[in-house]
Amino acid sequence: NDQMSDLPDAIREKVQNHPCYSEEAHHYFARMHVAVAPACNIQCHYCNRKYDCSNESRPGVVSELLTPEQAIKKTKAVAANIPQMTVLGIAGPGDPLANPERTFETFRGLSEEAPDIKLCVSTNGLALPESVEELSKHNIDHVTITINCVDPKIGAQIYPWIYWNNRRIRGEKGAAILIEQQQKGLEMLVERGILVKVNSVMIPGVNDEHLKEVSRIVKSKGAFLHNVMPLIAEEEHGTFYGVMGQRGPEPEELQDLQDDCAGDMNMMRHCRQCRADAVGLLGEDRGEEFTLDKIEAME
Ligand code: SF4
Ligand code: SF4
Repeated sequence: NDQMSDLPDAIREKVQNHPCYSEEAHHYFARMHVAVAPACNIQCHYCNRKYDCSNESRPGVVSELLTPEQAIKKTKAVAANIPQMTVLGIAGPGDPLANPERTFETFRGLSEEAPDIKLCVSTNGLALPESVEELSKHNIDHVTITINCVDPKIGAQIYPWIYWNNRRIRGEKGAAILIEQQQKGLEMLVERGILVKVNSVMIPGVNDEHLKEVSRIVKSKGAFLHNVMPLIAEEEHGTFYGVMGQRGPEPEELQDLQDDCAGDMNMMRHCRQCRADAVGLLGEDRGEEFTLDKIEAME
């Protein structure tokens, strides 16, 4: 896989069996996501709280919210039925690190009961610095941070507010704190040898040009992969799309930006933005086979 060929050996070894890193592995190794995190600590203009977080997954779908206990049960049931199951991600419907009890209880249970499964988590980064210590105690394979900007002026167009120290902080001030926390969290993870992938949502006319700089900066700080995802504009999805009339990028625009960023670092092009409770190989979602009632019935 030529996307992977530039990586240092130690990282390449770690990622070659990992569906989220290589297109090839995506066809042989299965992954699943569980949605255990209902709350979020920021507001993205492109988010509609009725649906899953777009940190990692396709917006506009509602995943089954699980308790940590149910998530552990489900993961074990899937692993027993899909032998290629290697990776469990916590993503959505809100931000996993804004729900630390639920997220870490799930990780703790899985580290004990299913130690062979690699764990990953995706986050907007606001609560990342305070979570790094706990994250480093688990079998965390990688952390995905969604970084859409490094400039508070651009950030204010993407994030109307953040919730920080029990207060809502709006505009550039809020965006500046979020950016600082994301960068600090990235540095802390890299220091501890935890792999960091960066996701960015390409929003035409807002951060498209700017993402080249984001790509340069996160690479220089040690992120090993940058995944530029298109804003998915769907009429029913909410304000950013509806009221503000924001469009998503054309496929060529996305590809041009990915090409521009690729000069700087490894790009991930195979991501299909699976729904937050997706189960299976790339392009496949067997989530319907493993809903809670079906898992209960398997027992
Ligand atoms: Fe929505 Fe995710 Fe943004 Fe939170 S981080 S507002 S859940 S898209
Ligand atoms: Fe995660 Fe994207 Fe792979 Fe789906 S396609 S498992 S969202 S990296």
